[in-house]
Amino acid sequence: MKIPAWRRAVIKVGSALIAPDGNGCSSKYLLAIARFINECRERGQEIVLVSSGSVAAGRHHFKVEGNNTPVVLKKAMAAVGQTQVMESWSRFFDFPCAQVLMTHDDLRERERYISIRNTVNALLEHGIMPIANENDALATDDLKVGDNDNLAAMVATVVDADALFICSDIDGLFDKDPNKNKDATLLPVVEEIDQSIYALAGGSASAVGTGGMRTKVEAAEKATAHGIDTYILNGRKGSKFEVLLRNENPGTLFKAKENPLSNKKHWLRHTLIAQGEILVDSGAVDALRNEGESLLTSGIVGIEGNFDRGDAVLIRSAENMETIAKGICRYSSHELIHIKGQSGSAIAEAYGYSPISEVIHRDDLMLWRKND
Ligand code: GLU
Repeated sequence: MKIPAWRRAVIKVGSALIAPDGNGCSSKYLLAIARFINECRERGQEIVLVSSGSVAAGRHHFKVEGNNTPVVLKKAMAAVGQTQVMESWSRFFDFPCAQVLMTHDDLRERERYISIRNTVNALLEHGIMPIANENDALATDDLKVGDNDNLAAMVATVVDADALFICSDIDGLFDKDPNKNKDATLLPVVEEIDQSIYALAGGSASAVGTGGMRTKVEAAEKATAHGIDTYILNGRKGSKFEVLLRNENPGTLFKAKENPLSNKKHWLRHTLIAQGEILVDSGAVDALRNEGESLLTSGIVGIEGNFDRGDAVLIRSAENMETIAKGICRYSSHELIHIKGQSGSAIAEAYGYSPISEVIHRDDLMLWRKND
């Protein structure tokens, strides 16, 4: 089977390939990947690399035993390891590489998201290969994406890639856990990512990185929703890149959705984290789901959590707690507690002013499908 043609791709390379034996960066697996990148560029294809490995590459400079490394040391490891990761990649290429470090915070604010997009596009236009990673040395956990699979999917959507290649130490997604079942078989193509696919992904974690199969499926879900074909392949096997150069499937292909979400809806659904919840009555559920309406004060029956104006919130049905949508709220939780359940005219009478009636405007709202 020939895979769909692509022009711009994000390649994610995991820590297990960059620092496989815990003793700094190694060229062992990177050579084949670098050769592949060179070949693609010669064919006129554009590559953005998302490279993990800063913590793994920096670890050997510190005397720490066991797996419970304090966060402050992990950040220090990332600071020293990140330069080594960059150095290591740069050695393979005759063209310049650019370091792009970001955190989840940079991606969730729309202006900063656009700024990353412009920088990466400018680099690509000038023949420079962006190498992205999370800013592990500085970011605190609550500002981080946390794993580079999801980060790579976000980067792929930011730069409007056509393909995302997740290179790991496993051949792809199997129908059973291949570590426990000898007869496990590889799934070459996944058409639709649903709970049964997540069930297959459970439990297979990497020893050196933060991601496992689950984060790879999450990444595939984000990217495919944006119209990006996503592959998991074994980056330890150089032959897989030759397969790719023949335009054949090297592992598991998660097929892109045909009607991808718009950039804004994608960002809303997959990048923004909900800071609270708004519980609504059945009338509001119907208006949102079936009438294409905005969320108004009158349908709100409860507020959970503390959020500010402009924060993302989940809208849930008060009747059965089903998630209906996610949206950007125009009021703070504190304000909503006072005006919930009231009509615009009742609020005007009580408070002497008539507020904006749409608590969440339709344009800032992303509906969940029934079985999400
Ligand atoms: N950003 C981390 C690093 O470079 C890797 C996260 C992951 O393993 O997914 O060390």
